[in-house]
Amino acid sequence: MGKPFSRQSEVTRVHFHPAETGSRAVFLAEARTNKELRQLRELFDMVGQLAMVVPISHGAVMSYAVQVDGDTSLFGKIEWLLKTQFTFSLVERNFSDVTFNLVRSLCVDSNTQMVELPECGACGAADPFPTRASLELAGSEAPVHVSYCSRCTTRHEGAEPAETIRALLAADRSGLHVGRETPVTQMPDIVEQRPRWAASKLAMAG
Ligand SMILES: [Zn+2]
Repeated sequence: MGKPFSRQSEVTRVHFHPAETGSRAVFLAEARTNKELRQLRELFDMVGQLAMVVPISHGAVMSYAVQVDGDTSLFGKIEWLLKTQFTFSLVERNFSDVTFNLVRSLCVDSNTQMVELPECGACGAADPFPTRASLELAGSEAPVHVSYCSRCTTRHEGAEPAETIRALLAADRSGLHVGRETPVTQMPDIVEQRPRWAASKLAMAG
C-alpha cells in the first residue's frame, strides 16, 4: 500500500472477498533462453485453466504460485514437466516467508524482476492469494484496496466472514477506523478475474 491513512480515516463501507481455500505450491524454473521462457509461460497459462496461478517472477527465473481446491495431483504433473524439460527447477508445496525469500534471492542473483504481490495490511507479508477488501472512506472518492495474508486471516477468523474482515481491519497497521455500524458486504466471486489481473501484470513486467 501507499501512504498510511490518517487516524481520522473513517471507513463508510467495506466490500470484501475471502481468500479461496486450497492447497498451494510454488514452482520455479530457470529459463536460459527465450524459447524456455515462452515454454514456461505457455505451461503456466495452461495450468491457469485448471487452477489459480499467480506469477511471482518473470525473466531468467520464472516462478509461479499455484493453488488448487481438492485434488493436488496437478502439482506432481507440473513438477514432472519442469524436472524433465528444464535444467533447474524447484517446487515448494506451500507459500511461506521462507519460500518467498528463496525466490527473491534467486531473482536478485539472476537480475530477474519480481511481480509485486499483494502485501498484508496487518503484518506486511506478501501473499499471492490473500483475503481482499475494498474500502469506501468518508470524504474520498476513490476506494482503498487492502489485502490480508492467510496467516493473519486464520489468526483473526470469526464465526462469520464479516467478523473475520472486521477483525482484520481492526488489526490493520494503517490506523483505519471501522465503526460497528459500518456496513460490510461480501463481493461476488472474482476468481475468474484474478488470472487476467495476473496476466496483465505479467505483460507489464515483460
Ligand atoms: Zn499478515
